[in-house]
Amino acid sequence: MDKVRIGVREYDIIEFSKEDVDKNVFEFNVSKEDGDLLGRIDSSKNCIYISKDQCEDAKNQTILHESLHAIWEQMGRDNNEDLINGLAEQLYALLVQNYFPFSKKEAFK
Ligand SMILES: [Zn+2]
Repeated sequence: MDKVRIGVREYDIIEFSKEDVDKNVFEFNVSKEDGDLLGRIDSSKNCIYISKDQCEDAKNQTILHESLHAIWEQMGRDNNEDLINGLAEQLYALLVQNYFPFSKKEAFK
């Protein structure tokens, strides 16, 4: 998955390494105390960044988490990390445990 459509916008999904964070390649401005960064969204660049240092399942969860941040931003809401975390976990479980025939997977080809 290298792109995700959210609302009327399309976001590039870009993987980053620990070295990228250390060198501040993507200007995440993460402090050492923040711990390992799994994902970040930059709506000004329409980019979702995800850490390479995750298994595929965790990467997908991170993409969903950052996508919810994008939805939240597009709705004009202030960030609420606890709410996004909870929604992302529940929505991920819902999506992997069920098949929704209304999902237009072919739109992403
Ligand atoms: Zn978050």
